[in-house]
Amino acid sequence: QQALMTVKDLRKHFPIKGGVLGRTQAHVQAVDGVSFEVRKGETLGIVGESGCGKSTTARLLIGLTPKDAGEIIFDGDGLGEGLSLRDLRRGVQMVFQDSYASLNPRMTIADSVAFGARQAGIKDPMSKAQEMMHRVGLDPARFAGRYPHELSGGQRQRVNIARALAMAPRLVILDEAVSALDKSVEAQVLNLLSDLRRDLGLTYIFISHDLNVVRYISDRVLVMYLGEVVEVAPVDRLYTNQAHPYTRSLFSAMPSMDPENRTEAPPLAGDPPNPINPPSGCRFHTRCAFAETICAKKVPALAPMKDAPDHLAACHLLDVHSGHSKAGTWEAA
Ligand code: SF4
Ligand code: MG
Repeated sequence: QQALMTVKDLRKHFPIKGGVLGRTQAHVQAVDGVSFEVRKGETLGIVGESGCGKSTTARLLIGLTPKDAGEIIFDGDGLGEGLSLRDLRRGVQMVFQDSYASLNPRMTIADSVAFGARQAGIKDPMSKAQEMMHRVGLDPARFAGRYPHELSGGQRQRVNIARALAMAPRLVILDEAVSALDKSVEAQVLNLLSDLRRDLGLTYIFISHDLNVVRYISDRVLVMYLGEVVEVAPVDRLYTNQAHPYTRSLFSAMPSMDPENRTEAPPLAGDPPNPINPPSGCRFHTRCAFAETICAKKVPALAPMKDAPDHLAACHLLDVHSGHSKAGTWEAA
C-alpha cells in the first residue's frame, strides 16, 4: 500500500520561558524523533496519554507549529523541496475538538464552509459549500443562513468537517474531533466520517485518548509515549497482542476489552515523567515493571516483529528477530 504521507525523524522542542537548567535554556521535548507513514485510504489512529505529543505531531504535519528538524513528505514531495507549505495546507486539513472555537461566530454556516474553499481557489465555493453541507447531513435550505451559536455541538462539528472537506483535501487530521460529543452523537459522527472517507477517497489521521473509538475507526494504530513512537500495528493485532509494556499497561485499563484478550499488565502508575528532562535510554523505564539495566542506558529502536512485519515496537525485551518476547511471557513471571 502506497504512502500518502511519510514523516521522518520529526522533532520539536519548545523553549521554556525563563527556564534554565544549569547554563542552558530548558526545553520541553514535545516530539523527539518521530517517524511513520500514512497509507493512502487508511485511517491511522494515534493514541497515548495527554502530553505525549499527539497534538504537537498533528500541528507539525501541517506547519501550524514549525518543526525543528525532520522530513515531511506528502504524496511523493518533500516539504521545502517539491512541496510548499501552501500546497501542504491545501492537501491536509485538520478538525479539532472544540467545534465552537474553530468557527467565526459572526459568519453564517454557509459562509464559513465556503470561506476555505474560496481561499483554496475552488471554483464556485458556494456551491461546493452546499454540496459539503449535504454530505455531512446538514440541509443547506435549513442551515446555510444560521450562525454557530444556533447549532448543537454535533451540528457544529459537522460544519467543521464540511469546512475542512470543502477545500478538497486528501488527508484529514482529526484531533480529538469527537471527544466533546455525547456518546450517541459521537457514534453518528464516527459513522459519518467512515462514510466520507469511503465516498471521497480520503485518508485520515485520527488522534484520540479513547481507545474504543480508535479501535472502531482505525486500520492501524500508533502509540506515543513522551514524544516518541513506541509501537505501531494493524488495529486487530494491537488490540489483541500488544508488544510494548507501555501499550500493555495503557490497554489493560480499557473497560470493554473482552476477558480473553485482556492483557494482565500492571496498570500505569503515576504520571508520565517531566518532558523537560526525559528519562535516559527507554523513556518508559521509570514506570516499566520489566526494566533491566540496559533500559536506562540505551534507546530501543522501533523494529518489526518477525512474525508480523507490519507490527513495530521499541523495547529491549522484545526479541524482535525471533518474534518472541520476554514481555510476552511476563504473566507467568
Ligand atoms: Fe520496559 Fe526496558 Fe522495554 Fe523500556 S525497553 S519498555 S524499560 S523493558
Ligand atoms: Mg491533544
